[in-house]
Amino acid sequence: MPEIKKLLIANRGEIALRIHRACHEMGIQTVAVHSTADADAMHVRLADQAVCIGPPAAADSYLNIANIISAAEITGADAIHPGYGFLSENAKFAEIVEAHGLIFVGPKPEHIRTMGDKIEAKRTAGALGLPLVPGSDGAIGDLAEAKAIAARAGYPVIIKAASGGGGRGMKVCTSEDELETLMQQAGSEAKAAFGDATVYLEKYLGNPRHIEIQVFGDGNGQAIHLGERDCSLQRRHQKVLEEAPSPVLSTEERDRIGTVCAKAMADMGYRGAGTIEFLWEAGEFYFIEMNTRLQVEHPVTEAITGLDLVREQIRVAEGHPLTLRQEDVVFRGHAIECRINAEHPRTFAPSPGLVTQYHAPGGMNVRVDSGLYAGYRIPPYYDSMIAKLIVYGTTRAGALRRLRRALEEFVIEGPTTTIPLHQALLDDPEFQAGEYTIKWLEDWLERQGS
Ligand code: ADP
Repeated sequence: MPEIKKLLIANRGEIALRIHRACHEMGIQTVAVHSTADADAMHVRLADQAVCIGPPAAADSYLNIANIISAAEITGADAIHPGYGFLSENAKFAEIVEAHGLIFVGPKPEHIRTMGDKIEAKRTAGALGLPLVPGSDGAIGDLAEAKAIAARAGYPVIIKAASGGGGRGMKVCTSEDELETLMQQAGSEAKAAFGDATVYLEKYLGNPRHIEIQVFGDGNGQAIHLGERDCSLQRRHQKVLEEAPSPVLSTEERDRIGTVCAKAMADMGYRGAGTIEFLWEAGEFYFIEMNTRLQVEHPVTEAITGLDLVREQIRVAEGHPLTLRQEDVVFRGHAIECRINAEHPRTFAPSPGLVTQYHAPGGMNVRVDSGLYAGYRIPPYYDSMIAKLIVYGTTRAGALRRLRRALEEFVIEGPTTTIPLHQALLDDPEFQAGEYTIKWLEDWLERQGS
């Protein structure tokens, strides 16, 4: 079995640090790669070796495959972990890594490719027995076909660009007239935005929750699920706060959907960590997509299962079997994660720059994943998330109390952050009761005058 001795982390920020920590706990040396804008970043300081791979623009550095592979070769790394974002769901990158004799800490390239194509992903999910949103079986040929499918699914329906992403390239139609107009627009807009005019059709769910299932496979037909995360609190399709377990799922519902997902991954021969995303409405799950990587919100799953997901990814990449069998997975307590961004808490205008004071909360069952320190200058070129605060409690109410206390302690001076947004959310009775859907946060922000 190949043993990883030195791992290159092809990412930045808190996730680079997260991976570094797992590696050092496993006795694995780390190589950081960084752009010129990140020379002073914490992940660069802590890694055993660091290689500059280009200028600030991600396209020239964190997405620069040739430079990343060169960095691995120069430093003698034997594996690459892509984190999330950047190259993490780039099948070509995974293939290149493997072609260079390096271990890719992630799924098999063909699975990344399948799940990265929206129509192919849906077809595969359906064939594996996952519940789908009713709609077209694949690309829509013409308007007559669209009308027939919409009539069968029932209005409203949503037209989606096959090559869309990040919540873009979608149009909701409430009637056949609207469908006629928007079908024409959708194709040409998709062609302009994504270079691909292919669209497909789905029933539009009015007010669902976003509930996703964490899965893990060994690549050899064994797979487990690690329960769900409720990520319904979103702004512009961006997750703001995540919790596990979901306030609305019963043990039986979790077992049922989790078992279906684990079996699908076993049948597929899936390797490593993955997340199957569903919309959930009136007790039913509807598959929307699968992410073939570690998620930002993975720590809430770690908190309630006690499993280190990055360690598990690395072990599976080395060829080990899964640490746990399904019957060994035990869900305990409740965990909540707040994404803290360097943004104005009302206008969401980015606020990069010098961090003059920094004090992270601590105490029992409080975890902060962040590369910040006093004197660090947040560069303006990348994602605005600067810290994740994860709290755990034996009950949801306890976790909420701990979250309030931890947010009170958090000091980040210099940039404006979204900490006050999370504090205001905590005061809301509907949030406290767990009564929210994917529409809820935007309505709430409007009510607050944002
Ligand atoms: P993307 O790859 O662009 O993120 P997704 O298919 O994951 O696209 O959808 C993004 C978001 O759009 C979902 O989280 C949900 O808020 C909304 N959405 C997608 N499909 C539907 C649907 N059929 N009904 C209602 N909302 C939907």
